[in-house]
Amino acid sequence: MSLLVVGSVALDTLETPFDKMDDALGGSATYISITSSYFTSSVYMVGVVGEDFDKAHIDLLKSKKVDLEGLQIIEGGKTFRWGGKYLDDFNQRETLFTHLNVFEHFDPVIPESKRNADFVILGNIHPGLQMNVLNQINNPKMIVCDTMNLWINIALEELKEVIKRVDVLIINDEEAKMLTGDNNLIRAADQIMEMGPKYLIIKKGEHGAMMFHEDKVFSAPAFPVKNLYDPTGAGDTFAAGFTAWLDKTNDLGFDNMKKAVVYGSVMASFTVEKFSTKRIENLSNKEIEERYNKFVELSRF
Ligand code: AMP
Repeated sequence: MSLLVVGSVALDTLETPFDKMDDALGGSATYISITSSYFTSSVYMVGVVGEDFDKAHIDLLKSKKVDLEGLQIIEGGKTFRWGGKYLDDFNQRETLFTHLNVFEHFDPVIPESKRNADFVILGNIHPGLQMNVLNQINNPKMIVCDTMNLWINIALEELKEVIKRVDVLIINDEEAKMLTGDNNLIRAADQIMEMGPKYLIIKKGEHGAMMFHEDKVFSAPAFPVKNLYDPTGAGDTFAAGFTAWLDKTNDLGFDNMKKAVVYGSVMASFTVEKFSTKRIENLSNKEIEERYNKFVELSRF
């Protein structure tokens, strides 16, 4: 099976209570592609970088067998840069800066040979760009969409048009409240489901995630992580673990979707243990399975 990923490719400046790093590899498409590579061998990445994007990053993606035909490298351009700072409890993140650079004129072009991908993840980018992608793809089995507070604030109508056309919307609790103006998550979920997605997943950070579908609800805890180091990319990694599991198993039954939520949580729990993409660069399938099994044990009663 195959998985098309469209999103940002970034150089992040990250500040946590423990450490600081400039120009670390980041971006939604990056986290999603690396994570998905543990589940499926056909990951197609679409994004844009500048000439300053280190060849070592390209080599890393290639080593994960990520197909880079759709990655545009703009001559003379500078890569998108984002700076984020976490406060002491890691629950709050402040955006320090967003330098769009080559992202400002990004026009995602899905290579002809990738338009029939089985699964599509619309990573966190401007909803107008997400819509461009929807207009280029041919009937995938599932379209999964991520977004962020910025787009709810500045591009709400475009975002709602995208939400109408996707199968799964993944957002966090704050975004669900912003999207609906309702502080009760269950009522907010009802309202978002009316906007069109077949499935809604609301992430609640260290409190886990909830999946809604028709009259069904599934609630999974977050994996208890002892060494939380850098939460950047946790949301992207969750979306990737979830979707790539479905791509690998090709089973869209609700029970398998529950497993997908757990794989999403498992992959997110790895990401946060080290800076940037460091922890997910060298995982083994054995480690992933062991953590999945621990997770099952942890939530059984
Ligand atoms: P997450 O922690 O899952 O929300 O994802 C963090 C990643 O999102 C970082 O690596 C950033 O480079 C990327 N990012 C931050 N702001 C934006 C934006 N406005 N558009 C696209 N990607 C962004």
